[in-house]
Amino acid sequence: MATIEHWIGGQFTAGASTRRSPVFNPATGQRQHEVVLATTADVDAAVQAAATAFESWSQASLSARTKVLFNFRELVNARVKDIAEIISDEHGKVLSDAAGEVQRGLEVIEFACGIPQLLKGSYSDQVSTGVDVFSFREPLGVCAGITPFNFPAMVPMWMHPVAIACGNTFVLKPSERDPSASNYVAGLWREAGLPDGVFNVVHGDKEAVDALLDHAGVAAISFVGSTPIARYIHQKASAAGKRVQALGGAKNHAIVLPDADLDFTAGHLTAAAFGSAGERCMAISTAVAVGAAGDPLMEQVSRMASEVIVGPGRDPRSEMGPVVTSAAKQRIESLIGSGEQQGAKVLVDGRGLTIPGHEEGFFVGPTVIDQVQPSMDVYTEEIFGPVLSVVRASDVDEAIALINSNPYGNGTAIFTSSGEAARRFQRGVRVGMIGINVPIPVPMAYYSFGGWKDSLFGEQHIHGPEGVSFYTRAKVITSRWPHVTTPADASLHFPTA
Ligand code: NAD
Repeated sequence: MATIEHWIGGQFTAGASTRRSPVFNPATGQRQHEVVLATTADVDAAVQAAATAFESWSQASLSARTKVLFNFRELVNARVKDIAEIISDEHGKVLSDAAGEVQRGLEVIEFACGIPQLLKGSYSDQVSTGVDVFSFREPLGVCAGITPFNFPAMVPMWMHPVAIACGNTFVLKPSERDPSASNYVAGLWREAGLPDGVFNVVHGDKEAVDALLDHAGVAAISFVGSTPIARYIHQKASAAGKRVQALGGAKNHAIVLPDADLDFTAGHLTAAAFGSAGERCMAISTAVAVGAAGDPLMEQVSRMASEVIVGPGRDPRSEMGPVVTSAAKQRIESLIGSGEQQGAKVLVDGRGLTIPGHEEGFFVGPTVIDQVQPSMDVYTEEIFGPVLSVVRASDVDEAIALINSNPYGNGTAIFTSSGEAARRFQRGVRVGMIGINVPIPVPMAYYSFGGWKDSLFGEQHIHGPEGVSFYTRAKVITSRWPHVTTPADASLHFPTA
């Protein structure tokens, strides 16, 4: 059983801790590795390494930084398959989906390759006689990223390529459930020519996270994970005077109107609910079927859900893999049970699924629960598994009101052929990312990603222009080079011209 160590200052180290956490292969249910859990001293070592590296990296020219980014892009692109295999073995998702995640991360690296353009300041000539004003942005220092299990490569890549391109150094604390992808990516940064100490990985749990939040040497925290932890991170990091963006959980609704194309909608809903076993923050976990859309939709989605091929992520025939841990499987199955007890109708039941040859794997089959009421646990809880809850509504306004009364506001979608209804939806719904006949409206890397309400704490969304803004701060310079032959014109009045 391999031990997964920290990557600090360009070296692997086990650090000072004796604490370890098991890393499972969700398809077999077997422990395959253990990961070291950092102490406060280990985190301090990583922050110190990053602080030392900041002195020279923050002074590296734009050309030098861009060259490293382009090299990194080439290396990640060449190793998509390797990274996907690492992800699949620890997360459980199927290989094609894992490769898709790396591809989306790659797009953020490509965005960050354009950093000279993104960091261009502004210049105003002759704002007053002989006076010019210009602005530029500088890096913050040591930035930290704390990331969830569900996208072990992509979510960290929402952060570190942008932070590093801006001239910061970075300490990543990935999920302890699937930590290996981060160490692999650290090796690619080094191969790309990134100086040691600019990118560091510390593994750990709450102790490591708290050490980062408390550390005076950390300037900014980017967090992605569940809402209770996002709220905690935002409060604690803000109180410590750090810049913080904390993206939380989700409960994404898709409204289906009677005028939507049934085959198109059912296919896309099935994919959006069960892809990656529903362990996506942009998964559609709730369908809101309006009026006559409900019954035919339920018939078709139930058939398609039953046909999803569930199996180990490494098997190319599998369309959906296991969930991440045995605890996740138990929690999901118990929530399905509570829905049934509270009066919802389980049309397709994924509980108790076993896959021949993988009897100990953490598999839950696609599940469709109809007639869900907003008071039920299956509606109020973020299930984070392959479960589609279906609420019935009588019209589009009732459906929009339901979405707006939900505490989360990450993503949402509408299926319709009515431009008028779609426009009413896009203007009326209080959610950060909106799809129109697009069930998972993840913005491209050159836009910014983020939800509203309890899905994001902090002001700035992640990657894209807001990512560059988050990882830099502006200086505005007012400059005058007086002609020495003219007499001094200083006065006590406010200058006006
Ligand atoms: P999580 O909140 O349990 O863990 C996220 C990170 O926080 C991990 O690195 C973990 O080690 C750390 N952590 C856990 N408990 C902590 C504690 N008590 N104190 C300090 N740190 C702690 O989330 P998860 O289960 O790994 O990921 C799934 C969640 O992430 C879901 O809620 C999902 O919606 C959310 N998510 C959101 C987005 C988004 O963009 N909004 C994207 C991906 C995942």
